[in-house]
Amino acid sequence: MKLIYEKSVEGRVGYSLPKDDFEGSISDFIPEYALDTQPKELPEVSEVDVVRHFTKLSKLNYGVDDGFYPLGSCTMKYNPKVNEIIASFDNFVNAHPLSSLEFVQGNLELMYELEESLKEITGMDRFTLLPSAGAHGELVGTLIMRKYFEDMGKPRHKMLIPDSAHGTNPASSAMAGFQVVEVKSNEVGNVDLNDLVQKMDEDTAGLMLTNPNTAGLFEREIQKIAEVIHSSGGLLYYDGANLNALLGIVRPSEAGFDIVHLNLHKTFSTPHGSGGPGVGAVGVKKHLVDFLPYPLVCKCKDYFGFEEPIKTIGKVRAFFGNFTVLVKAYAWILTMGADGLKEVSKAAIINANYILKKLKGDFRSPYDRFCMHECVLTGRDYKEFGVKTLDIAKRLMDYGFHPPTIYFPHFEPYAEETIMVEPTESESKETLDAFIEAMIKISEEAKTSSELLKEAPHNTYISRPDEVKATKEPILTYKE
Ligand SMILES: *Cc1c(COP(=O)(O)O)cnc(C)c1O
Repeated sequence: MKLIYEKSVEGRVGYSLPKDDFEGSISDFIPEYALDTQPKELPEVSEVDVVRHFTKLSKLNYGVDDGFYPLGSCTMKYNPKVNEIIASFDNFVNAHPLSSLEFVQGNLELMYELEESLKEITGMDRFTLLPSAGAHGELVGTLIMRKYFEDMGKPRHKMLIPDSAHGTNPASSAMAGFQVVEVKSNEVGNVDLNDLVQKMDEDTAGLMLTNPNTAGLFEREIQKIAEVIHSSGGLLYYDGANLNALLGIVRPSEAGFDIVHLNLHKTFSTPHGSGGPGVGAVGVKKHLVDFLPYPLVCKCKDYFGFEEPIKTIGKVRAFFGNFTVLVKAYAWILTMGADGLKEVSKAAIINANYILKKLKGDFRSPYDRFCMHECVLTGRDYKEFGVKTLDIAKRLMDYGFHPPTIYFPHFEPYAEETIMVEPTESESKETLDAFIEAMIKISEEAKTSSELLKEAPHNTYISRPDEVKATKEPILTYKE
């Protein structure tokens, strides 16, 4: 496929405009310095060239609307299209961020009601809906933790993070000025309590924990973990990026968490990927409410407005966040209802355990236990045939599936060559069975015809780009 520039034909146009009857000089209206006199290097193509080019490009992509996309720790699920339609309503899309409050009461009420729902789901006392992503929510959360200790006159400098954590956790902590201290995982894939006790001290702000953790496993000793952190005056941070396992089943507040972030763009009906618009809503318990960023939405009698918490960490984003993501989340919560949300989590958990049970014979799991919304398998048994987990993932593309997350979580000696599958609640038994069948076929191929895997994928436009270089020097053309 050619670049659109290569399809350019001199003089070809895709538009026709009326003759320019403007009299006078443009520089009377636009200052000289702002005028660009250089001709633009744009492709000269017709409308049909443009439409065909981009339609073709869009078909080279693979998304949730094409098929199964079991990327662990990502919740790549189907999101109802009706929520997109609702989010595109005029009064949502065209509301001006500087409108007088009386003109946008409905929009403020939506934010207020969404916050009420998130409070109910998590048990937290107050939420900010401002952060634009999970990582942004983590930064806001860790800044709140920092300010909480500074405000007491006892700043703390370290942050505990399990070795199974999502990479954004240590990155956000470091950005908030903390020194990151790693906590080991034990043989059942949970936080090693002894290691935690040894590392927690009075200079440590707390622990950033994902539960179920990034291996899809519930932290069985969560109450003890909370006790260790709280008894040294620390705070327990919950990375709730993927809440699919807990909706209506466990409330993070009751598990001892002081602060949480939720990715509305994973669990709450906004498709994500490629850094598209998201919301990393941050919820806190009472003792941290004063530190939240502003503006917070408030309700005074029947009037919705904004308020500024007295010890706020400040502003973290322009205006009010990615508003349409909030609309989708609210619409989804309302359409599901309380029972529906619980069903989501049950289905997500059952789907993941179904895959685990069916595949752990061929792709030995590092842990002998039930999982939550995602499961960890490994390709370690195929190393003796010269096949890496990477090859297994690549081969899946030939069977029409997006590969799951691989090499994550990764902590030796328990978890290596990992394959992490998150089927989500959207998928039918037929889809899961087809995936399972493909995986089992691949396991046979690995033993008998490993070359097939090492050169996979065979039917994509580009097969094996240099993994590191591909992000810096993308390959934009291919032979048709
Ligand atoms: C996705 C994810 C994040 C980061 O969220 P972004 O919106 O991509 O910044 C953090 N933690 C976990 C566990 C995640 O799955």
